[in-house]
Amino acid sequence: MKLKKRKFLRGFTRFRLMLTLGLAVLLPAAALIYVNFSQLRAIERDKGIEAIFNREFQDVLAITEKKINKKAYTMAEEARELFPSPDTDTQEKEKRLDLILAQKPWLSHAFLYDEKGLVFRSQPGLMGDKYFREEHDHMTESYRLWLGKEGKMQMAGIRKRPKGISFSGGQVKRESGDTYLAGAMFVLPQTSPDRVVLGGVAFEGCYLKGILFQDILDEMVSQKSTDQGGNRLAMMVYPADMEMGRELKPLAVSAGWGEGKPEVYRKFDDVFRGLALGIKFQGTSVEAIGRNWVHQSFLILACLSLLIVGGLVLTKHVVSKEMALARLKSDFVSNVSHELRTPLALIRLYAETLELRRITTPEKKQEYYRIIRKESERLTALINNILDFSRIEAGRKEYEFRETNIAELVQNTLDSYRYQIEQQGFAFAESIDPDIPAVRVDREAIARALVNLVNNALKYSTDEKFLGVKLYRENGSVKLEVVDHGIGITRREQSKIFEKFYRTGDPLVHNTKGSGLGLSLVRHITQAHGGDIAVESTPGKGSKFTLSLPLASAQQTNDPASSGTSPS
Ligand code: ADP
Repeated sequence: MKLKKRKFLRGFTRFRLMLTLGLAVLLPAAALIYVNFSQLRAIERDKGIEAIFNREFQDVLAITEKKINKKAYTMAEEARELFPSPDTDTQEKEKRLDLILAQKPWLSHAFLYDEKGLVFRSQPGLMGDKYFREEHDHMTESYRLWLGKEGKMQMAGIRKRPKGISFSGGQVKRESGDTYLAGAMFVLPQTSPDRVVLGGVAFEGCYLKGILFQDILDEMVSQKSTDQGGNRLAMMVYPADMEMGRELKPLAVSAGWGEGKPEVYRKFDDVFRGLALGIKFQGTSVEAIGRNWVHQSFLILACLSLLIVGGLVLTKHVVSKEMALARLKSDFVSNVSHELRTPLALIRLYAETLELRRITTPEKKQEYYRIIRKESERLTALINNILDFSRIEAGRKEYEFRETNIAELVQNTLDSYRYQIEQQGFAFAESIDPDIPAVRVDREAIARALVNLVNNALKYSTDEKFLGVKLYRENGSVKLEVVDHGIGITRREQSKIFEKFYRTGDPLVHNTKGSGLGLSLVRHITQAHGGDIAVESTPGKGSKFTLSLPLASAQQTNDPASSGTSPS
């Protein structure tokens, strides 16, 4: 009934622990992993990284366009400042316009219109090109007609534009191939608003790269690339309808464009209408970066998940171990109390009987005295074990190594047990090699180790009662063997029996008194002597414990490590 209750309590504690681990650690960890995983999947599905880059690209393009526009306005203003007054005569106007064209060779045309008519001049150096000549003739004619008709209206419109300048643009033909022409039409600031006076210049596409686009593109690319770190950007200015299949080369390309199309583009919508600005990464694509990022994140998540799972398994392992130790400790307390109570009860019973003088025969008396002595010896042995154990645990156990005839030590220890062994009906075989050289050992400790081994052999034997003790020399060490034909130990438990408090699951062990400290003491003692302890056992057949002490190191007389405090 009691056992059932204890089992139930243990099961409950275990369940509570698992519940705590599950609720406090496993559940949040799993939720974290799941949420991260689904977020990554969502980013992968919605191309989230690509979207972020595209937005960033759009911003860069907008800033670039602004810079280009600003510079274009400045250039148009610079040209306007050189314009003659509409009141000068035609010849003077022509001269002044020619001067502007000479000063600014990137301008293809310059014109001035007022009520008296149109003066339209073109870059003389370009007049050799037949298409350019045709353009000049055509524009002169069409502007005269157009401005004559709509000049006033145009002027009203341009006045409302920023800085009184209006840009337009488009593709034009040249003998060397198609190019882009950007026109700026403006009002002259010094003229009165009642008059119709319009000036204008046209920028020749092939020069725009050198005077305007290139510097801004390169500046933006290097600035943004250092801002962002990692991947470098590349930009270009190209005719907006280039993709429609027309054979027109990009007007300007920043360093590192390489091959390929822009990832994101923006059509100029004020100054250079008809042109577009494109952007991409140097040597990689947004898609590849997004893919890499997602892959990397999945990899990191997988590693973190593995770490979390590993941590959980480790935690469970450690906690279970601690729980097992706590259980062993509580068993230990009840076992020790039991072990103390039995000899005490016996001593008291026999002493009382003697006190009451109920025993008359001297033999009987003698037997009672012997029992009292034996039981108090058992008590002392148990208490010594516990004291030794607590010293070892506290790191205070000290050994006193002395030159010892180990054969004699073993013999004497066994002698004081011989009667008890035979009394219990054990067949006792001893084989002690008397020629073993003297070794430095702590006598009391070695005797205690032997007593523990012998006691175990006696305790854990049932039908076949045999005890064998052998002391011999082998390969530079002294071996002390304690053999029994008792219940034996399973292979799985053989490694555990040397741990403190551990007792095997065999039912006989549970019905036998014990603290689970004996073998852990034996191991500590042997290790302090530089030796080790091994067990060979077959369940149901018996066990053999072999304690070996190295002869060489045990013989070193002035080894400082061989005396004083031992490792614990
Ligand atoms: P205990 O006080 O329980 O005997 P020990 O540390 O001496 O503690 O032994 C630990 C456990 O090892 C024992 O409880 C028992 O299960 C097992 N054991 C030790 N010696 C023997 C043996 N000779 N035969 C079978 N089992 C043994």
